[in-house]
Parts: sequence; structure tokens; C-alpha cells
Amino acid sequence: LGCLYLVPTPIGNLDDMSIRAVQTLQSVDLIAAEDTRNTQKLLNHFQIQTKQISFHEHNTQQRIPELLEKLNSGMNIAQVSDAGMPSISDPGKELVAACIQRQITVIPLPGPNAALTALIASGIAPQPFYFYGFLPRKLKLQQQALRQLQQVTATFILYESPYRIRKTITTLIQYLGSERQVTLARELTKIHEAFLRGTLGEVQSYLTEHQPRGEYVIIVQGYQESEQIQTISSQQLLELIQNQIN
Ligand code: SAM
Repeated sequence: LGCLYLVPTPIGNLDDMSIRAVQTLQSVDLIAAEDTRNTQKLLNHFQIQTKQISFHEHNTQQRIPELLEKLNSGMNIAQVSDAGMPSISDPGKELVAACIQRQITVIPLPGPNAALTALIASGIAPQPFYFYGFLPRKLKLQQQALRQLQQVTATFILYESPYRIRKTITTLIQYLGSERQVTLARELTKIHEAFLRGTLGEVQSYLTEHQPRGEYVIIVQGYQESEQIQTISSQQLLELIQNQIN
């Protein structure tokens, strides 16, 4: 039986590729890549000549039996996504599950990941944290997700594109209020790496004046007990007391 290697790749800075990641991509028989053209640039940079096969969200179901067959015949395969850790808001989890089910060894390599990189520089409590990833785009699912996130007391982590970041911050304010602490991390490990730290309200006004650029990680402070006391209006308080009396 061959092994499945899960190989993280840089999220911007090519120097973040580990020696072991390079050696693994060099030594496996095949690389299953989210976008073979994108990964080819990485392979060229490190002079890796291993063959690739495409493996992305639209061909996952069709590819899994093919990859399992190759693994069964003794081939070692490395799976990579376009950037960062495979399976983290990226393709991979179904392949991993299929390998585990067939007792094929899965070997994960540690490496670049946008969420944890943003978290450790956010200034917001790093533990406990809750990784959410991209909010659902469908309104109903998004509302459900946000109602759930309202209750989360752990720091939580979202991913967002530059096209939707303004809208997402506005939506977060609707559900969490404007006083929640937040850190936006953009272009991590790249030349224009930047952190924006403040309340959701402050971040929103910054973004109305500055054009969002690059990919974003949003780190949001969890729900604090004290928030309820701060945001309750006197009318709501009166109703609460009346309900208690009745
Ligand atoms: N698998 C990746 C990982 O381990 O972080 C995440 C892939 S997901 C498709 C892409 C999202 O990750 C982006 O929209 C952004 O939210 C975040 N991201 C990736 N690279 C980033 C970077 N250099 N700076 C900030 N955020 C980044």
C-alpha cells in the first residue's frame, strides 16, 4: 500500500515551504493538486519534476476511486491545495476519509495556514478558538451561521475575499454589535502584510475610506458575558423586570 501525504504550501511567501515539504513532493509518485497550473509554478521554483493530477472540488468524487486504486497499487501520493493546508477551506477531507476507511496511511505535514498565522498576531485571546472559515453565501444558511456565532464565547476565525469584506463586516455588526474587538489580517507573509485591529465599528469606518485589497482573515473576539449588560436598552431592561414580576 502507498501513503497519502498532506502537504501544506506557502500562503504568499515561497520561503515558507519547508524542506520536508519539498522533499516529499520530490519523492512521491504523484501530486494531486487543486490547480495543476498553479502548483506547477511552485514545482518549477523548487525544481521538482513529479507528475501531477488535478484534484479539486468539482472532480473529487470521480478522482477518489482513481487515487485509491493508485494508492492500493503501492504509489505514494501527495495532496496539495493552492495555498496553505489542504482540507482547511480547501479540497481534501473526502479523500482523507476514504483513505482512513481503507486503512491507507495518511501522513500530514505541518506548515503554512492563514488562520493560525493571523490568530497568533491578532492580540485577541488565542485560546479557546473556533475556526469557521468562509461564511455561507446563501442568505438563509448565512443567517443560521451568524446566529450560531452570536453564542460562541471562543475567539472565532473567518476567511473572506476582498470583494466581500465590507459587506461581511457590516453583517457582523448587525449580529454582534459594533463594539466587538476584531483583527483583520491581510496579505499574510507577503510584502503588503497588514493588520487592522479595533472594534467592528472602527474597522468598518476604515474600510469605507480604504479600498480592500488582498485576501483577509477575520479574527473576532468571542461573546463576553459583560456585553449583555452594555448593550441592553432601558426599555429592554424594563420588559425583563416586568416579565420576572409577572
Ligand atoms: N488552505 C488555506 C489555509 O490553510 O489557510 C485556506 C484556503 S481558502 C480557499 C483561501 C482564504 O484563506 C482566503 O480567502 C483568505 O481568507 C485566507 N488566506 C489565504 N492566504 C492568505 C494570506 N496570505 N493572507 C490573508 N488571508 C489569507
